[in-house]
Amino acid sequence: MKKIEIKKLVRPNVHSLNAYSAKEIPCKIKLDANESPYSAFSVQRLAFSVKKIFQTLNRYPDPEAKVLKGIIAKNINLKPENILLGNGSDELIYYLIATFGGPVLYPVPTFSIYGIISQALGEKGIAIKLDKEFDLNTDKILTAIKKLRPKLIFLSSPNNPTGNCFSSDKILKIIEVSRSIVVVDEAYQPFSSERGFLPLLRDYKNLVIMRTLSKIGLAGLRVGFLIADAGIIKEVNKVRLPFNINLLSQAIAAEALKNKRMMGRYISTIVSERERLFDELSEIKSIKPYPTEANFILFKVKNSDKACQKLLRRGVLVRNMKGVVNGCLRVTVGTKNENNSFLKALKEVIK
Ligand code: PMP
Repeated sequence: MKKIEIKKLVRPNVHSLNAYSAKEIPCKIKLDANESPYSAFSVQRLAFSVKKIFQTLNRYPDPEAKVLKGIIAKNINLKPENILLGNGSDELIYYLIATFGGPVLYPVPTFSIYGIISQALGEKGIAIKLDKEFDLNTDKILTAIKKLRPKLIFLSSPNNPTGNCFSSDKILKIIEVSRSIVVVDEAYQPFSSERGFLPLLRDYKNLVIMRTLSKIGLAGLRVGFLIADAGIIKEVNKVRLPFNINLLSQAIAAEALKNKRMMGRYISTIVSERERLFDELSEIKSIKPYPTEANFILFKVKNSDKACQKLLRRGVLVRNMKGVVNGCLRVTVGTKNENNSFLKALKEVIK
């Protein structure tokens, strides 16, 4: 057989890339991926929609996902022309970088996919360190904007993995100074006490807001969306793969979004559990939790590697933030019982 060196065929920027690691570790209590502990879809709803869905599985789905897009647009008082749907917001990050190119600026630590996709697409990433409070370092960012002219800026607020919202004045300053696209990634906005950037969309043509259904109980559907000026949406839509939202996701998400009351209830439960979990963690001497507006808590713990392994042995999976925020673990807020099991295990582990 002919010898083919695959490595030599791969573009260097892809070859040197580390794939995003989303390992499936079997575990009783899964608190590592910022998912909701509640499925935001009631099975009673499935009964009347499922028959229609399965009868048309032989056909491609609506390429524009008009019904779902219409519901989302109505919920936020905008037009379907202001919305672009993605197979999760991960896909939308890909589309944004494919459309506008780089350099791509983002603060660190933040959601790693901004950097991974920039590299995958051969675009330069500009990573600017957050300050000690995990807020934006505006001086450094504004200098980088002037010198390096990034085409895209990603700001996750609330930020993953730190959990805090960036100061809105600082975000605003960046949007005002930048001559390119500023994406405010509001994946965790539903859990935040701040109102987010949606109300400012009409004032700033370069502002893009990114949201997802993943954190509010529908991660399995893979539905994220961009909200922006129609001109931006039209351009990004050119790189969108046809039929990127499958038939089941379109139908189930549309049905689920009609039941906003149930989603709202789950979100308030998660927020009050987050507050309780934060207070309990603060009471533990050797633990330092960081203030959060998201559905997870970043906390410092002695011997974080060992603590993470020992928690796993007790059936609790959290995310080790080694290499991102050293010495820290990130725990997703679960159900009351899950949170209690986590707290009990953590107290045993750090003894
Ligand atoms: N943005 C942020 C800040 C995230 O933390 C995540 C998920 N971890 C995403 C986007 C991606 O979400 P989705 O499931 O919609 O692809």
